[in-house]
Amino acid sequence: MNPKILILGPPGAGKGTQSDRLATAFEVEHVTTGDALRANKGMDISEMDTEYDTPGEYMDDGELVPDAVVDAMVEEALSGADGFVLDGYPRNEDQAEALQGMTDLDVVLVLDAPEEELVDRLTGRRVCDDCGANFHVEFSPPKAAGVCDQCGGDLIQREDDTEETVRERLSVYAEDTEPVLALYADHDGYVEIDGDQSPDDVWDEVRQAVRDHT
Ligand code: AMP
Repeated sequence: MNPKILILGPPGAGKGTQSDRLATAFEVEHVTTGDALRANKGMDISEMDTEYDTPGEYMDDGELVPDAVVDAMVEEALSGADGFVLDGYPRNEDQAEALQGMTDLDVVLVLDAPEEELVDRLTGRRVCDDCGANFHVEFSPPKAAGVCDQCGGDLIQREDDTEETVRERLSVYAEDTEPVLALYADHDGYVEIDGDQSPDDVWDEVRQAVRDHT
C-alpha cells in the first residue's frame, strides 16, 4: 500500500510544491481541491442551493466553496487512488469530519510560515497558463519575464493572488482551517514542519517525516 498523506497549512506555505515532490517520490496521487476547483470554476452548482451559482465566484472572493461541492470531489478522487497526498482539504471542521468517513491517514504534515512571508510569496506568484508551473517575480523569476521556462506558455497572476484577496484567504484560514489542526494533533503521524526555509530544506524534512511514518 502506498502512503496516505495529508498536508495542512496556510495558503503560500508551500503545500503545492511539496505535494508535487511527494507524489513523484512516493508514487502517490496528488489530490488538490484548489486545482480541481480551478478546472471547474464555471460548474453549475445552483441545484445545491448555494449562495453563488459557480465555485469561481467564491474563489475570486477568497471564500470557501460550499462543503457539499468539495466533499464530493475529494470522495471521488480518493476512492480511485492507491495512496495519495491530499492538499487543500479539509479546510474546516465539517470537512475534517467528512474526510474521516472516507479514509484513514498515515501521515499528517503541517507546514507554516510567518504571515508577511505568505503574503509576499502569494502576491509575487506567477503561474503558467498552459502547464501550471509556478514562478515568483522575485524569489524564482522565469528567464524571460512573463514566459514559462518549461513550455513557453504565458505566465499569469491568479485572480485570488492579489493582496486584498490574499489577506481574505489568510483570515479565512485563521478562522475556519486553523481549528482543524487540533483535530489531528494526536494522530501518530502528525509532524509540524517549518515552511520558512528553502523548498529543498523543507523537502528534506517532509520526506523524512513520511519515511518515519510509513
Ligand atoms: P488553493 O489553491 O488551495 O489556495 O484554493 C483556492 C481556492 O479554492 C480557495 O480560496 C477556495 O475558494 C477554494 N477551495 C480550495 N479548497 C477548498 C476546500 N477544501 N473547501 C472550500 N473551498 C476550497
